Amino acid sequence: MKAVLFDLDGTLHDRNATAQHWLEGHVQRFDLPPTYAARFLELDDFGYRPKSEVMPLLVREFGLAYPAQALLDDFSAHFMAAPVPMPHAHAVLAQLRERGLRIGVVTNGWPEVQTACLEGCGLMALVDDVVISKVVGLSKPDPAIYRLALQRLGVTAANTLFVGDSPRNDIIGPQAVGLRTAFLPTGHALSGEKPDAVLGDLRDVLTLA
Ligand SMILES: [Mg+2]
Repeated sequence: MKAVLFDLDGTLHDRNATAQHWLEGHVQRFDLPPTYAARFLELDDFGYRPKSEVMPLLVREFGLAYPAQALLDDFSAHFMAAPVPMPHAHAVLAQLRERGLRIGVVTNGWPEVQTACLEGCGLMALVDDVVISKVVGLSKPDPAIYRLALQRLGVTAANTLFVGDSPRNDIIGPQAVGLRTAFLPTGHALSGEKPDAVLGDLRDVLTLA
């Protein structure tokens, strides 16, 4: 292996932990009912459902006195205030670098948010390149975004591993361009996809690369 490409949310960034942390403050700030946090996480679907859909649903379901926009503003202002890195992320990236591997991130999202996430997690200095969908005008699982990431790192699919938590974006997509894949089960479960490896935690990447 010459390089490893990582997804960000649910892979290098422990989005579930960040969400729990944000929800604690959010529930206090708005004095929300006890079951609100669990319902938010359900509707949020590991971040795949837009918050512009989630918040109006919550306002209606819980009969809240706040406009959905107030909840949305709180999400925008506070969610990425203290992002939590995935356990072992720092150590694994440092070790891969020590071995001379190139490291890239390929993530769907907005540059301000994903950059704040990488910086907040203290991971920016440990990666060689970051490909963000809204910057490059391509998003996973479009094969072109994986090819672009490979080209920018100066490596080929044959000697690169893709690590992520989305069966669609991080297994099916990368496999279509010939990448080997490792699945980190922190989000949606596999439903027939066949990654080359299923990780117990990020440290298992060291045995594959
Ligand atoms: Mg992800």
